[in-house]
Amino acid sequence: MLDIQRLARKNVRELKPYSCARDEYNGDTGIFLDANENSIGSVLNIDLNRYPDPRQIELKARIAAIKGSTMDRLFLGNGSDEVIDLLIRAFCEPADDKIMILPPTYGMYKVAADINNVAVVEVLLTPAFQIDTVSVLRNTDSVKLIFICSPNNPTSNCLRESDIQKILENFIGLVIIDEAYIDFAPEHSWLPKLNQYPNLVIMQTFSKAWGLASIRLGMAFADSQIIELLTKIKYPYNVNGATQQLALEALSYVDKKNDLVAQILTEREALIKQLKNLKIVKTVYPSDANFVLVKFQGAKKVFDFLIDKQIIVRDRSNVIRCEESLRITVGTAEENKTLINTLKIYRG
Ligand SMILES: *Cc1c(COP(=O)(O)O)cnc(C)c1O
Repeated sequence: MLDIQRLARKNVRELKPYSCARDEYNGDTGIFLDANENSIGSVLNIDLNRYPDPRQIELKARIAAIKGSTMDRLFLGNGSDEVIDLLIRAFCEPADDKIMILPPTYGMYKVAADINNVAVVEVLLTPAFQIDTVSVLRNTDSVKLIFICSPNNPTSNCLRESDIQKILENFIGLVIIDEAYIDFAPEHSWLPKLNQYPNLVIMQTFSKAWGLASIRLGMAFADSQIIELLTKIKYPYNVNGATQQLALEALSYVDKKNDLVAQILTEREALIKQLKNLKIVKTVYPSDANFVLVKFQGAKKVFDFLIDKQIIVRDRSNVIRCEESLRITVGTAEENKTLINTLKIYRG
C-alpha cells in the first residue's frame, strides 16, 4: 500500500509553511492595512495593486467544476514547469532518491531533476514509441516518481492505456501523466480514473489548447494529500493576479477553445498530407498533438535551409530514437503553406 506521507521527504512532511498576510485573514471586504501594498492604487489603470489570492479559490473552483474534479484535488502552478519542480522537491531526497523518465520525452523532467540533484533513470520507449513496461518495473530501485508524457513530446503519440495502467498498479510511488496535449488526442484524459489510483498525478496546462502560453498556468490533479504537500512548499503567490483574472475570463470560452482545437486538427491533417508528398520526407509519424515529428533525408540540412528562410522548427535529430527528425508545430493555414512551398524548393 502506498503511504503518501511516508513517500514525501521528511523535511517537507514536517514543514510549517510561510503564512502570508492574505492567509491570516481571508475575508474580502474591509480596510486592508495588513500587507504593505500601495493602498492608493497602481501606475496602471488596472486592478493589480493588491496581492493576489494565494489559494486561488475562485479560479480553482471554476477549473474543478469544469474538469469534474474538486478543489482539494487541484493544484495550480506557474506553468507545468513549476508543478514538475515541486513534485521532485516534495518527494525526492537530493543525491538519494530518483525519478524515471521514458526518452525520447519532454526535456524539463530531467532538467528539474538535475537542478535538484536528483538522479534520473532513463528507460527508452520502444522503436514504436511505446512503453517498455518490463524494463520500467524492473528498474524502480530508489525511484519515487515516474514521468509519463501522453501524448508524448516530441513523438506526438499517445502511450497505450494498458501499459500505463500496469505501471500505476505495480509501482509504489507516484506516476505522473503529463497531458499537455490531451485536447488534440482522440484518447480520453485519465482524470475520471483519479479516484482509482492514489498514486496518480495528472498534469494539464493552459499553454496549448487554450492558447495561453504567455500567462503561465499549469494544473495538477491528484489525491488531496499530494495536493496539500505541493501547496505547502509553493511560493505564496505563485500564480499572479493578472493570470488568475485572465484564466477566469478564459474559462467562459470553452467553446472557443474547442473551436481552436478543431481548426488545428484540420490544419494538422492537411499538413501531414502535404508533407507525405515530399520526396525528402521519409516518415511522418502519426500525431495526437498540435505538432508532427517528421523524419527527413538529411534533417540537419533541411533545418538550416528552413532557418535561412526564417522558418523555425525544432531540430530533434540529436535526440535518441528521433534521428534525422524535425518537430514541426502546426501553424496557420498560411504558415503551413509557406513551409510546404519552401520545402518544395529545397535541393539537398
Ligand atoms: C508544452 C508542454 C508543457 C506545458 O508546460 P507549461 O509550463 O505549462 O507551459 C508541459 N508538458 C509538455 C510535455 C509540453 O510539451
